[in-house]
Amino acid sequence: MKLLVVGSVAFDAIETPFGKTDKILGGAATYITLASSIVGVESGIVSVVGGDFPQSDLDMLSSRGINIEGIEIVEDGKTFFWSGKYHNDLNSRDTLITEVNVLEHFDPKIPESMQDAEILVLGNLHPGVQMCVLERMTTRPKLVILDTMNFWMNTAWDLLMAIIAKTDVITINDEEARQISGEYSLVKAAKKIHAMGPEFVIIKKGEHGALLFHEGKIFAMPALPLEEVFDPTGAGDTFAGGFASYLAKKEDFSFETMKSALIVGSSLASFAVEKFGTQRLQEISEEEMKTRLQNFKDLTTFEVKV
Ligand code: AMP
Repeated sequence: MKLLVVGSVAFDAIETPFGKTDKILGGAATYITLASSIVGVESGIVSVVGGDFPQSDLDMLSSRGINIEGIEIVEDGKTFFWSGKYHNDLNSRDTLITEVNVLEHFDPKIPESMQDAEILVLGNLHPGVQMCVLERMTTRPKLVILDTMNFWMNTAWDLLMAIIAKTDVITINDEEARQISGEYSLVKAAKKIHAMGPEFVIIKKGEHGALLFHEGKIFAMPALPLEEVFDPTGAGDTFAGGFASYLAKKEDFSFETMKSALIVGSSLASFAVEKFGTQRLQEISEEEMKTRLQNFKDLTTFEVKV
């Protein structure tokens, strides 16, 4: 199965307690599809960049087997730019700059070669654009996964509700789940989000892992305790990309497979945070990936007699 991903392809400037970067490659779709390439699943991006976007970054994506036919280049436009600064605990950040640039008038076009994608990942973007991509697919994909953020809850509530109603799996962080549902308890929040449409609700809790809710069942997954977190940017997108790609690889969307998919997503996210931007994702070896999955298994498996 293959994955179609809509989301930002961007420049990011990041400041963490450990250092600072100038404009480097970022964007939700970039992180999601890099995760797919590591899992070994075919993926394609629908996005837009400006004439200032380096050919070398496009080449890097296509050299990893990522289909970039759906990345429109607006020669006289500027690429989306985001800048953020992390607080000392690395769990929270302030957005310093968001320059929407070419994303402002983004009219997504799905290349013919990606029309048969079975899984659609709607990365964090304006919910109207997410809807447009879903509507422009000639056949509805078998699974629609949506990521969103509080910004759209505050600015585009009705459109957000409309796309959530058409979604099978939603990934959302704990604070956003509370905001969208008006419930403090994440269990109650997940119930309300189910009622909005998605059969599967994933609530991300940063360094505390994630929860998966489906038909009254809950699966709790920890995050791997890491000695050093360098830059959390893109962790959520990498997680979503790893999760979706594992489902594509297994060609199965059951609760049991989703549990394993969560572990794969988390393992990849744990790499992503070790260096600035996408750097670490571009270097992971198969051996390292295997070791990290084993670390996860050791962390979470136990026997108890009652
Ligand atoms: P995450 O850390 O998973 O929330 O994702 C960070 C990525 O999202 C960065 O690479 C940014 O370029 C991108 N990003 C930040 N704000 C937005 C936005 N409003 N729309 C689209 N992408 C964004």
